[in-house]
Amino acid sequence: MKAMILHGGVGKVKNEKRDRVEAGLKRAIEAGYKILCEKNDALVACETAVNVLEDEPVFNAGTGAVLTLDGRCELDAAIVKGSTLEAGAVAGVENIKNPISLARMVMEKTDHVLLIGDGANNFARLMGIPDYNPITEERLEEWRKLKSLLIKGEPIHWKKIQELIKQYPELLHGTVGCVAIDDNGEIVAGTSTGGVFLKLFGRVGDTPILGAGTYATPFGGASCTGIGEGIMRTLLAKTACDFMKMGISAQKTAEACIDLINNTVMTETGIITLDKSGKIGFAHNAENMPVAFVSSLDNEIKIAGFSSE
Ligand code: ASP
Repeated sequence: MKAMILHGGVGKVKNEKRDRVEAGLKRAIEAGYKILCEKNDALVACETAVNVLEDEPVFNAGTGAVLTLDGRCELDAAIVKGSTLEAGAVAGVENIKNPISLARMVMEKTDHVLLIGDGANNFARLMGIPDYNPITEERLEEWRKLKSLLIKGEPIHWKKIQELIKQYPELLHGTVGCVAIDDNGEIVAGTSTGGVFLKLFGRVGDTPILGAGTYATPFGGASCTGIGEGIMRTLLAKTACDFMKMGISAQKTAEACIDLINNTVMTETGIITLDKSGKIGFAHNAENMPVAFVSSLDNEIKIAGFSSE
């Protein structure tokens, strides 16, 4: 059984961006699923799908990711192989085109799991990855607007980010994630993000924290999106994998994870899941969480998760 599910982040999708979001998800799942079918390799398929999403500026990952309070792009990503629990992650990397690929290099070429900041950037240069500026004019424009709102007295302290996001739910949208399974039963989960708009410099979210935003085991995999602090405090992706190990379906798992969030930290969150039988699940407590999924049962790509549905 081969299957793959992607998310394009939780939050509000502005109408004018919806077509780009849908098209990006479609391109990414086509590219990833092609690899899954031709190479039967969930790791390469997951990386490929996330790369396509990182390269599409409408998403908050890689090119066009959101900016920190001081106007920089600090990117986080992680990838996990369920069969062996091998994992790689990077946090706070700058000037990188595809953080998920750097995370894979951390997994395959080092004895470590997580590299951060300058160290991660030095490692990227050592690996021959050229410097790349992921900041787009579109994001800079948004950042300038938000900064001027903040200067006019909107909340600027990180503790107030919840308020800021309630007012501007589109701030959250756009992190990307993927969970894939190949015919060998290998489940791989990957997530890539710029974090939350106007985060403090140095802030690391849930994405590169194993078991928080990204996790996989032989029983299932999960990728999360939303306010990273809530996802970290509930170790949501690992919790999802534990639920699937107990035999709970991927869909019920996703729903139970959102219940857990709603009953504890109460932060805006979305999750995609995939279990060892290749069944997928997704749930969120926000306005949108665009997802795309496909499986070898019918090879039909499906897109869902927009609020009008
Ligand atoms: N979870 C990400 C973070 O907090 C943001 C997101 O999913 O939009 O860094």
